[in-house]
Amino acid sequence: MKGAGIVVVGSANVDHVVEIDHRPADGETILGSDLVFTPGGKGANQAVAAGRLGGDVAFVGAVGADGAGELLRTSLLDAGVDIRELAESEAPTGVAIIMLTPDGENSIIVAPGANRHVTPEAVVRGSEVLAAARVVVVQLEIPMETVLAAARLGRHGRFLLNAAPPRELPQELLGACDPLVVNESEAAYLLGNRSTLDGAELASALLGLGARSVVVTMGAEGAYVAERSAVPVHVPALPVLAVDTTGAGDSFVGALAVRLTEGASLPEAAAFAARVAAVAVGRRGAQESYPTLDEVLEPVE
Ligand code: ATP
Repeated sequence: MKGAGIVVVGSANVDHVVEIDHRPADGETILGSDLVFTPGGKGANQAVAAGRLGGDVAFVGAVGADGAGELLRTSLLDAGVDIRELAESEAPTGVAIIMLTPDGENSIIVAPGANRHVTPEAVVRGSEVLAAARVVVVQLEIPMETVLAAARLGRHGRFLLNAAPPRELPQELLGACDPLVVNESEAAYLLGNRSTLDGAELASALLGLGARSVVVTMGAEGAYVAERSAVPVHVPALPVLAVDTTGAGDSFVGALAVRLTEGASLPEAAAFAARVAAVAVGRRGAQESYPTLDEVLEPVE
């Protein structure tokens, strides 16, 4: 099988999105909008984001033998992603229940389904693609032993770990990250919830844990990039009206991977990713909000 520049190993979910005017309190029932089904999941989102930007992307994951699985296959294929390593599992396709409030923020529950069956064996089946990848991209919605297997098999390229949702990371995994990409709360979790640190300090402290390089994303405040023996760099976000931040972080990761395979430096790649994510937050949905290269916003002067 021909190698792809980017191999994403991760989750695929169907997002069930309901708009609400406030988050329900304990014991409270509220009425929301009609339910909307859209393709999502951190892994599939990142693969679609990279594919839509023209990246050469393969996806290793699993969906169920159901309509939701078909929806995901179609979305990945439409973005030009190679899905020959997307397995069909006996378990149902993963589901995310997303509550969206008027400020563009979201609360999410994930029922993993088929994503639990993205096993180390699945990664070994795709080992030829992984060994040839320039960048291997992984998140934490699949079993940890699979994440470790991907880090080992993808060691000839660059290993990008988006440590979301947050979990404790084995030292071997941390040492492979180049970069480790986390948002502010994931960074704080990995550092034992030291909430007094600012973005630059969070990024430096994560380097101190053993990552080779780090990107901490901070929503509308942009991102901080830290590399060994360099002062952390701030990458500003673009000033846009946030309509729906669902999957913004995933568009950022996908875009980062695209620029890294092209040989950009990490700060350059992060600046491009901020422009891509700015488009995504200005539109509804996750995958359907991701821009093509032509639609990416101009840099901030
Ligand atoms: P999500 O979980 O909602 O997908 P996240 O928490 O993983 O996102 P964020 O730090 O919120 O990630 O956002 C990732 C990047 O997206 C930011 O670094 C920034 O470049 C861009 N971004 C997010 N929110 C905004 C915003 N309101 N305005 C402009 N850019 C934004």
